[in-house]
Amino acid sequence: MASSVLIIDDSVSVREQIIRTLESFSLFTRYYEAEDGLEGFKKLLSSSVDIILCDLEMPRIDGFKFLSMLKARPDLQDIPVIILTGMNDRERKIKGLEQGASDYITKPFDHEELVARVKVHLKIKKLQDELKRSNELLLELSNTDHLTGLFNRRYMMEALDKEVQRSIRKGGNLSLILLDIDHFKQVNDNFGHLQGDAVLQKVALQLQSELRGYDCAARYGGEEFVAILPDSTLKEAVFVADRIRLAVQVTKFSEPLSKLSLTVSLGVACFSPERSPTVDRFIKQADDALYLAKANGRNRVEFLEPENAPAVATSQKKATEQE
Ligand code: GH3
Ligand code: MG
Ligand code: MG
Ligand code: MG
Repeated sequence: MASSVLIIDDSVSVREQIIRTLESFSLFTRYYEAEDGLEGFKKLLSSSVDIILCDLEMPRIDGFKFLSMLKARPDLQDIPVIILTGMNDRERKIKGLEQGASDYITKPFDHEELVARVKVHLKIKKLQDELKRSNELLLELSNTDHLTGLFNRRYMMEALDKEVQRSIRKGGNLSLILLDIDHFKQVNDNFGHLQGDAVLQKVALQLQSELRGYDCAARYGGEEFVAILPDSTLKEAVFVADRIRLAVQVTKFSEPLSKLSLTVSLGVACFSPERSPTVDRFIKQADDALYLAKANGRNRVEFLEPENAPAVATSQKKATEQE
């Protein structure tokens, strides 16, 4: 893997010596140089650097100031810094380590020691990077539904809880859509479970594509999906829900599903601190509306009126009774 080093020292000859030493061990593919902390910091912002060797005493921005500039940037904090100090600089070594340096090398330096220390810190950096990547992957996996790639129920519940809190604090609109595929059991029965899975993936894609970037679409479970719509009134959410309903209804599937006419039922609720003070109550409202959509014939959107009274149907199905 390509790695790069940044050498910050006001002495050209020290920089040259370091580069010559490191080059002879083929440790890096890129060498960046800077003659003070400021120039070094600029190089760091414009290039990808794996390790930094930094002199302490330099004109203008010295090594200590450089370390404190690094500290202020969380995105740069994982880059190891080896400080270059004088032979009898005990206090400055300690101060440098306390300010965030990973290690030190005393000047005039021993070439083999320099290489050995650089290798150790490169290895630690590599392990850290791998750990970070696998943590990110784990987080993504723990939030994702493996079949559809949408968020899973666990993540959705957390996201909804946050949105509800935000709505309580700031008073903004917040709507919720629950979607359930109509007669999905028949899809499995007629075409098999694998084709059923493909249908779930297709519906997930359609749901996602009808939403805005800051809406959150999740698989609620089985053949049920949910969409959180921040800053949306009930009317707006019902409009979106009906767009989703229509998109599914007109979908043409390819073989072996070409004869399938799929529909979905949707229930919509709008958050109100009085009527739905908890996340569970809020979901229950959307679920009640969904139940109504099923009871009223499927392939339709229903919502509950603000006073909890059953609403009139907002979209009529187009005679797709499958029962
Ligand atoms: P309704 O219109 O009342 O919603 O009827 P339905 O058939 O869609 O509802 P029901 O709850 O009877 O059936 C849901 C089916 O979804 C049953 C279950 O086997 C199927 N299912 C749940 N999860 C998956 C999955 O991951 N893949 C597949 N292929 N099927 C699934
Ligand atoms: Mg110096
Ligand atoms: Mg269901
Ligand atoms: Mg269903």
